[in-house]
Amino acid sequence: MDYRYCKRCNKLYVFGNMQLCNNCLQEIDKSVSVIRKYLEENPGSNICVLSQNTGVPEKDILYLLREGRLVFSDLQITLYCERCGKPISEGKYCGECKRDLENLLSKTSQSMLEGKMKKEEKSKGDLIKGINMNVLERREKD
Ligand SMILES: [Zn+2]
Ligand SMILES: [Zn+2]
Repeated sequence: MDYRYCKRCNKLYVFGNMQLCNNCLQEIDKSVSVIRKYLEENPGSNICVLSQNTGVPEKDILYLLREGRLVFSDLQITLYCERCGKPISEGKYCGECKRDLENLLSKTSQSMLEGKMKKEEKSKGDLIKGINMNVLERREKD
C-alpha cells in the first residue's frame, strides 16, 4: 500500500488517487457546498468576505481554486496579493504585504551589511517563497 502525508493536515493516509486524506476530503467537500451556497446568495464576494462569512479558512478557498473545484469567475476577483492571496484592486501586493516586504527588504540588506548573512538567509528565502506564491500560477505538482 502507498502511504502519503496529507497535503492539508500532514497526517499519514493510504494514498488512492486523491491528494488529501479522507477526513480533509470530507471537510473540503463540506466547504465547497457552503461556499457555493453562499455565493449563490452573495455573488461577487471576495475571498476575505467569503472566508469570514462561511468560516472556511482562506487557505482552503485558495486550495479549492487551485484544484479547480471553485472557479475565479464564481468569486469575481480580478487581482490577488501575490504574498497572502488577499483580493486587491491594483498592483501585486496588498497594502499590508507591501509594507511587510519593504520592512523585510530593508532589514535584510541592513543585516547583510552587518555581516549576518547566515542568519538572514532563511528569512530571505521565506521572502522569496512568499513573493512566488502567486495563487493564480501555483499548481500542485505530481
Ligand atoms: Zn488531511
Ligand atoms: Zn497581502
